[in-house]
Amino acid sequence: MASRTLRIGLIPGDGIGREVIPAGRRILEALPSSLKLNFSFADLDAGFETFRQTGAALPERTVEILKKECDGALFGAVSSPTTPTKGYSSPIVALRKRLDLYANVRPVKSVASAVSPIDLVIVRENTEDLYVKEEKTYDTPQGKVAEAIKRISERASSRIATMAGEIALRRQRVRDSTGSGGAAKKSMVTITHKSNVLSQTDGLFRSTARQVLSQPQYKDVEIEEQIVDSMVYKLFRQPSDYDVIVAPNLYGDILSDGAAALVGSLGLVPSANVGDGFAIGEPCHGSAPDIQGKGIANPIATLRSVALMLEFLGEEKAAAKIYEAVDGNLEEGKLLSPDMGGSAKTDEVVEDILKRL
Ligand code: ATP
Ligand code: MG
Repeated sequence: MASRTLRIGLIPGDGIGREVIPAGRRILEALPSSLKLNFSFADLDAGFETFRQTGAALPERTVEILKKECDGALFGAVSSPTTPTKGYSSPIVALRKRLDLYANVRPVKSVASAVSPIDLVIVRENTEDLYVKEEKTYDTPQGKVAEAIKRISERASSRIATMAGEIALRRQRVRDSTGSGGAAKKSMVTITHKSNVLSQTDGLFRSTARQVLSQPQYKDVEIEEQIVDSMVYKLFRQPSDYDVIVAPNLYGDILSDGAAALVGSLGLVPSANVGDGFAIGEPCHGSAPDIQGKGIANPIATLRSVALMLEFLGEEKAAAKIYEAVDGNLEEGKLLSPDMGGSAKTDEVVEDILKRL
């Protein structure tokens, strides 16, 4: 087998992003050589600090290097200014647009020994819905009225449903090959919408997703539907019932943060921003100014984001190694960071996980 070299952009950003992204680099460098994977890295700037120094939160150089040289990237976090700051807008939102990273993928997994184990993925559409930000305010005799456009397209709904279907198949492959989850766990995609009220927009999302997932390649994937409000209820009552959840942008945003709360710490939850042939791993947490500089940030969200990025770059085996090493650390429970009730430093958690690789 020939070896493969992947070039990864490292964008630590602000706050604890600077403490956890180096851990991401370390785990890539520590992957066993039998995987025949090599990495090279590009250090890239973005974030609020970059904005303060240069006037641009997302320098053109960062976008150019990602587009021209890189196969994937890791993004730490950006601090959001507490007061509106002229000229500043979130660099990760801009990156998603510039690189057409149309899916936000968020796996939510508890430790296997949990009373009710959770192992699900939320696949959120990332480019449209209310996030087209077409708003207006106007005066009427009764006072001001404000409106926002909710735009849903067949194209965006179709590609996000395809992504959800592919993720369901991949998860099934992993379960089959590792024997984890038992035979009981069945592949399923739950389409979330509110088409009982929004029959045209959410109706289009629903019917398009259904059509995509009814294709023969997904014949082993069960299709389920949930109205978003009942989805929230069931997700919190019985999270172990779910496998892959696909949703338009806004519902996906809300469900993702809610689901992250199910597993205890934000420091555990990874995500990836995915487009065709490119993926950016990004821990779900923010810049965590309250613990910044103390060396106690939990690196696991980042390490899992590294694994998730690798999955989308076609390196499932390498990803599985990382997940296993992380799970080993959590199951043993001896070297945990303070957010998990332990007293280990970021570096000690990283060392423990690297040993398990
Ligand atoms: P931002 O505006 O950048 O999102 P924030 O103040 O909202 O910053 P978050 O990063 O969203 O902070 O974190 C919310 C809480 O969770 C904070 O108390 C933070 O310390 C904690 N937290 C977040 N990530 C981690 C982590 N990796 N390890 C430990 N604690 C974390
Ligand atoms: Mg936050």
